Amino acid sequence: MNKVQGFYYVDSEGEKKECRLRGVLKRSDKKENCIVGDLVEFDEEGAITKVFERKNLMTRPLVSNIDYLVIQFAAKDPAIDYERLNILILNSFYSKIKPVIVVNKTDLITEGEKELIEERLAYLKPLGIEHFFISTKNNEGIEELKEYLKGHITAFGGPSGVGKSSILNLLQTEKELVTGETSKRLKRGKHTTKDSNLLPMVGGGFVIDTPGFSSIELPDIKDVQELITLFPEFHTEEHCKFSNCHHINEPGCAIKKMVEEGKISESRYEFYKKVYEKLKKERWNRYD
Ligand code: GDP
Ligand code: ZN
Repeated sequence: MNKVQGFYYVDSEGEKKECRLRGVLKRSDKKENCIVGDLVEFDEEGAITKVFERKNLMTRPLVSNIDYLVIQFAAKDPAIDYERLNILILNSFYSKIKPVIVVNKTDLITEGEKELIEERLAYLKPLGIEHFFISTKNNEGIEELKEYLKGHITAFGGPSGVGKSSILNLLQTEKELVTGETSKRLKRGKHTTKDSNLLPMVGGGFVIDTPGFSSIELPDIKDVQELITLFPEFHTEEHCKFSNCHHINEPGCAIKKMVEEGKISESRYEFYKKVYEKLKKERWNRYD
């Protein structure tokens, strides 16, 4: 479901149907009653009668039912910010959206430089996170990425200048939704607030840009137990000496042992400690 200036465009078996909201869904005090990405039911008169339960919800932009969050960086210009990458992965797990890493601009680096990046990203695979090296300039990796995203709803985020617009233009079938045209036809000239919309992909599925990504910080993690659930590599058969271990300085910590043995990536563990310290200092202590 897409939304343009009060009109709702429902994708129904490949056709776009213009709909309106009905009854209780229409209440304007409920901003999130029907949003882009929602699965809906509509009647013969084009009134949306039901919004199905969402599997997830993103707030910037307001979109539901996202399958993948592509976290995009450039191999160079600008260089990858690995801490940011980890913060975005954390947000992705927190929002229950599967992260996918895309490294664009491979045309700017040597094979050797690419191998170094591969090494630093080696921890992704065991977490079930795919990564793709692409170049929108010389078309490297585009087909593989398309194949992976086909049939799914994918949000694209990342710092500016990494080539998000470039890849979105390669993936989508229409440049932009007809915001201008619609408003002209309906004689609503002035309002040109543009809702973020799902753009159909060749071969099925949708993509959507997520501006404002650079301001995303740590999600609202309520305690250390919740933080630990967001590090899938910490889910192990091994037991720490203390069942409520924070995996920081406790003796007999199975996680620290796994880091020493190289079974858990040291950079990820360092990231965990950093987030732990930050949340403890800035948020958790206030409730203790
Ligand atoms: P956005 O800010 O993430 O949307 O990035 P853009 O798509 O606007 O691209 C930013 C700049 O990077 C532009 O100058 C593009 O021409 C350039 N760019 C995009 N993709 C590639 C690529 O694969 N290789 C190179 N060398 N430059 C690229
Ligand atoms: Zn431990």
